[in-house]
Amino acid sequence: MENMPSRRTFLLSGAAVTAVAQTKPEEPGSPAVRYRVLGRTGLKVTELGFGSEAVSDLSVFERALDAGINFFDSARNYQNGNAERALGAALRGKRNQVILCTRSYADNARQAALDLDDSLKALGTDHVDIWYLGQKDSPGEIKDDMLDAQHAAQKAGKIRFRGVSSHRPAAIADFAIRQKFDAIQIPYNFAIGTRRDPFNLDASNLDPTLDRFKEAGIGVVAMKVMAGGYRGIKIEEKNLDIHARSGSRIAAIRWALRNDRVQTTSVRMMDRDQLEENLRAMSGTFSERDARLLAAYTDAVRPVLCRMCGGCDGQCPYGTPVGDVVRALMYAEGYGSYEKGLETFRSAGAVRCSECRTCTVSCPNGVRVAERMRRAQQLFG
Ligand code: SF4
Ligand code: SF4
Repeated sequence: MENMPSRRTFLLSGAAVTAVAQTKPEEPGSPAVRYRVLGRTGLKVTELGFGSEAVSDLSVFERALDAGINFFDSARNYQNGNAERALGAALRGKRNQVILCTRSYADNARQAALDLDDSLKALGTDHVDIWYLGQKDSPGEIKDDMLDAQHAAQKAGKIRFRGVSSHRPAAIADFAIRQKFDAIQIPYNFAIGTRRDPFNLDASNLDPTLDRFKEAGIGVVAMKVMAGGYRGIKIEEKNLDIHARSGSRIAAIRWALRNDRVQTTSVRMMDRDQLEENLRAMSGTFSERDARLLAAYTDAVRPVLCRMCGGCDGQCPYGTPVGDVVRALMYAEGYGSYEKGLETFRSAGAVRCSECRTCTVSCPNGVRVAERMRRAQQLFG
């Protein structure tokens, strides 16, 4: 593509940008912890946030708390409510030390309000700091009564700040600003941006949207920072190892944090090893070595990684939401969560690829759609 920076140049661009509000000095044996201020909430959040979706071993949370992580993120439906219960148990007696966030993926106000009450019960608290309306990719998905429910919860003291999470930040930016959300959670990683796309979900193109959030005082939380977190993958029936050299997780987090328009991250962590590695991201800034690691990873995952650009929307004659199906596979194969993959696949609705002789959907970002559709049927069908 004309005038497109090389992969490595692109990854490095912005490497000089740092916006560390405050740094706690590194003690021997303990990684440094850095903070930023999350928009108009004024909350001082650690750059590394804990995405609690996959943890059941409470000692992982305990170590995170000891290390100084103060931003914990969950959702009502993670592990059918067990993720919130585990986090609540770990925070017993320590609730006031942390900034606690959760969300409801409900598509109606009544269920969202019920979800919030269930979340509070599971988390063992009378309030959360940020409550997101989860996965809202267009303004039409957020009905007035859902906004009313969020305001009512705030008035009742059940939530301090109102958030929204979305895979399409540019598509809901006007709405989010108009509705004065306090925080937004969006996918933001080094792989988004491989190609400019019609929905502007390109890391380099996303900056103007992030500037608008910043100007409006909306705090930005980056999710899906690891771009799938693949270590191995099955492509065309062959098992391939992804080149996952030590440090790639750190590099991915530092890439997101090199942008001062992003204030924290919600990084899914499964175990102590991942936590310890991720913690080190706050001890340095994005480097050339990091760029090389990420460039190799990005090339390797190109055939399987959905960048959530929406470029395939409406292409399938049977209405298959291809991006959602490819993302479902990412959860199963990259995150190692078959359940989340299956849930995402099922919520994509009817997938009728088995009735198709030839897949007519093409992905501008290099995802091998036909192969991915076959794989999804095989895994979830
Ligand atoms: S499959 Fe390709 S075109 Fe479709 S949303 Fe994902 S990256 Fe975009
Ligand atoms: S295989 Fe057929 S049904 Fe499946 S996504 Fe492609 S065009 Fe649509």
